[in-house]
Amino acid sequence: MPYPEEFEGIAVIQGQPWSEPRHVSYPAKAVGPRDIDIEIEACGVCGSDLHTVAGHWRELPPALVVGHEIVGRVVAVGSGADTGFKVGDRVGVGAQVLSCLECERCDEGNEPYCEGFVSAYNRAYPDGYVSQGGYASHVRVHEHFVVPIPESLPSELAAPLLCGGLTVYAPLIRGGCGPGVRVGIVGLGGLGHMAVLIAKALGAYVVAFSRGSSKRADALELGADEYVATAEEAAWDDKYVSKLDIVLVCASSLQGVNLDQYIRTLRVGGTIISVCIPDKSEKLEMSAFALRGVTVGNSQLGSPQELRDLLELAAAKELKPWVETLPVGEAGVSEALTRMDKGDVRYRFTLTEFDKEFGLGK
Ligand code: NAP
Ligand code: ZN
Ligand code: ZN
Repeated sequence: MPYPEEFEGIAVIQGQPWSEPRHVSYPAKAVGPRDIDIEIEACGVCGSDLHTVAGHWRELPPALVVGHEIVGRVVAVGSGADTGFKVGDRVGVGAQVLSCLECERCDEGNEPYCEGFVSAYNRAYPDGYVSQGGYASHVRVHEHFVVPIPESLPSELAAPLLCGGLTVYAPLIRGGCGPGVRVGIVGLGGLGHMAVLIAKALGAYVVAFSRGSSKRADALELGADEYVATAEEAAWDDKYVSKLDIVLVCASSLQGVNLDQYIRTLRVGGTIISVCIPDKSEKLEMSAFALRGVTVGNSQLGSPQELRDLLELAAAKELKPWVETLPVGEAGVSEALTRMDKGDVRYRFTLTEFDKEFGLGK
């Protein structure tokens, strides 16, 4: 039974190694009146995809398709949709696919913090259907969480902005990032490298922090003003006391991150925000003595409006995430996840060639 009743995707199978995903078919979510059906043409590979398939966060269902940096073409528009999407439009979907749209948090543009949050994969919709992600032929999503992709952004470069880019853009904007503001970015992976690009585009002074020195040249090419290899100089923080206004922690694990040292780099009144979601066993550890007049916070994704704003910024400033493309399929997904696990990516994979794998557009 093909689309629209069934979608196809590359899934991790419960009980099997996550490095050996399989091409599967699965029932599509029941159509809601405001749902948009999208035929997928590109999907970024986020650190959260790896945490999920590796079981760092929660149990997996029997078969799970991950991926939540989705770009594709609209192929159907629900009868009750009223935000103007048309068949053929190129659109994007990030890591959130539903919220209640009625609560105070939703009204204030804080949809990612709604009690009715449904993520793009491995979360139950109100009817019990478990969401499936974007390493797939299609996705069916409420129009509120669908955004237009500006004409000038190629799909493979737009994709990583939809989760990773948004996740760093929202706390930077909410934290007042702009000219005259000094920002530290911790962990130069997919999120971290986009944080450098975005903070620079907003006019900030940027210090990039990575554990080793192998990413120094890249960080400077991305626009960072300074680079610190934290694992190579034990007392690196002595030189940075009170230098920064915002520190954004973008690492995928906190095991190699000494938060006390980063707190020392902040001016009084400065803020350290972690977007890291590590293995569920890890804790955010800091000494109560180190906390001297700073604010410690967290941020999750961003709102659909912030995503539209980011995409406009990316188009206007010609922001280009550093992307390596791989063809979607069992081999391509395995390679993307395996290499990401080893830190062997500069700096984001985007899966492409969906038409070849799924025979779309027929
Ligand atoms: P990624 O591309 O794998 O990058 C992670 C970076 O973390 C690495 O490049 C590395 O940077 C650093 N790192 C890796 N292992 C580390 C360790 N043991 N100790 C310290 N640093 C380590 O992953 P990503 O896609 O950027 O995602 C980063 C994190 O953000 C993940 O935990 C992901 O789940 C989370 N995330 C959160 C949200 C949210 O809404 N809050 C949204 C998306 C993703 P260096 O080599 O430069 O040190
Ligand atoms: Zn993500
Ligand atoms: Zn809500």
